[in-house]
Amino acid sequence: MSQLDFDYVIIGSGFGGSVSALRLSEKGYKVLVIEKGKWFTGKDFPKTNWNLKKWLWQPNMKLFGFFKMTFLNHVTILSGVGVGGGSLTYANTLPVPKTNFFTSGSWAGLYNWEETLKPHYETAYKMLGAAINPSFFEADETLRKLAKEIGKENAFEATNVSVYFGEEGRTVDDPYFGGKGPDRTGCVFCGACMTGCRYNAKNTLDKNYLFLAQQLGAEILAEKEVVDVTVLGAEDGADGYKINFISSIGKKEKGSVTAKGVIFSGGVVGTVPLLLKLKKKSLPNLSEMVGCAIRTNNESLMLVTSTNKNFKDFSKGIAIGSILQTSENSHLEPVRYGEGSAFFRTLTIPVIFSKYALLRLLGILFLMVKFPVKLLKTIFAKNYAKRTSVLLFMQSVDSTIRLKLGKIT
Ligand SMILES: Cc1cc2nc3c(=O)[nH]c(=O)nc-3n(C[C@H](O)[C@H](O)[C@H](O)COP(=O)(O)OP(=O)(O)OC[C@H]3O[C@@H](n4cnc5c(N)ncnc54)[C@H](O)[C@@H]3O)c2cc1C
Ligand code: SF4
Repeated sequence: MSQLDFDYVIIGSGFGGSVSALRLSEKGYKVLVIEKGKWFTGKDFPKTNWNLKKWLWQPNMKLFGFFKMTFLNHVTILSGVGVGGGSLTYANTLPVPKTNFFTSGSWAGLYNWEETLKPHYETAYKMLGAAINPSFFEADETLRKLAKEIGKENAFEATNVSVYFGEEGRTVDDPYFGGKGPDRTGCVFCGACMTGCRYNAKNTLDKNYLFLAQQLGAEILAEKEVVDVTVLGAEDGADGYKINFISSIGKKEKGSVTAKGVIFSGGVVGTVPLLLKLKKKSLPNLSEMVGCAIRTNNESLMLVTSTNKNFKDFSKGIAIGSILQTSENSHLEPVRYGEGSAFFRTLTIPVIFSKYALLRLLGILFLMVKFPVKLLKTIFAKNYAKRTSVLLFMQSVDSTIRLKLGKIT
């Protein structure tokens, strides 16, 4: 063992990778985190998502930002790439699933997950600086109104989020870890959490788990993509593994390290394709279940744009400031982007409800002919981010997809 470079190599520095890095380092293990994305600080984040170079992660187009879109047959997967993974682009909300979630799915009946996980949610809340959003803005008030209209006012509430709400714009010494962590600045409610917080108010993983892990000696190797993992010596991995990586930003660099154990925490679109590839090559004993029973968060995003002259500004606030529990298994949230971030207008089409693609297509054509001016006004409206509220509808009912190399079924 002493011949190996590290005790553990962690692939990916998102939520799974960061928690693993800190907890393993606390136990005294020698840890390396390998991350394919870049390091980001506040000034590296784009002012709007039109700055594709700073926002999108699409290496084959030389775009090395932190937001990745993966288009599959039946689903589009959004994810984060960079030191801190999804935390760089996520909407900060920290909801604990309802009982139904713990008692359904492939894990149902194996354990009392709700009780077992309770203390760990508490720990995560502490680590991520969870706080209830203190300020509602236009979109939240509109949702509250809707809740009242449908008789669900009690099911409307402020979100619990990983944001520092000190005095707006004022920087203070580490408010969370007794001086061991970095400083923070009070949130200014600019709505830009998902295009990266430029104000040091969002509690991304590089400011908590990863920051503390580094203090305990964990190393982070950014801009390197793990492409292969092979077994050293004994087939069961008892002698350790060799982890091979290449530059993820187009440099002619490659390398390898060895470790006693490997943690695959590259997120669904990172880990699953890698494991499927390794199963065919260097790790044939991986389970046949790799790629099966993948859950999404059953999420639809509907953009609602006001074409009124005197529109309300929906871009002010945090990314998601309120939530309405629409049923036991579903909820609705108004999501916002910061002023100027209107890239998603390029991906929108009118909503037509039909189970058949042909009918949906015909419905869109019908709308284009019947309301051409209204449609054009919606798509090309000035101040699009301010005029637009993204309604996020999410269901926690059990439904799974299967990922295969090259396609999804
Ligand atoms: C726009 C958006 C908003 C969201 N909002 C919320 C929210 O409000 N609340 C919530 O709970 N969740 C939210 N999520 C989901 C949340 O971000 C993810 O569930 C979470 O980040 C998953 O954590 P993870 O550790 O599995 O992987 P990730 O956080 O995705 O991290 C994986 C990391 O591994 C890296 N990686 C992958 N493959 C390799 C490789 N081969 N070599 C090296 N590095 C690799 C990736 O670059 C990435 O940085 C949101 C997601 C998005 C995209
Ligand atoms: S609203 Fe603005 S300042 Fe507040 S956390 Fe989001 S990006 Fe940062």
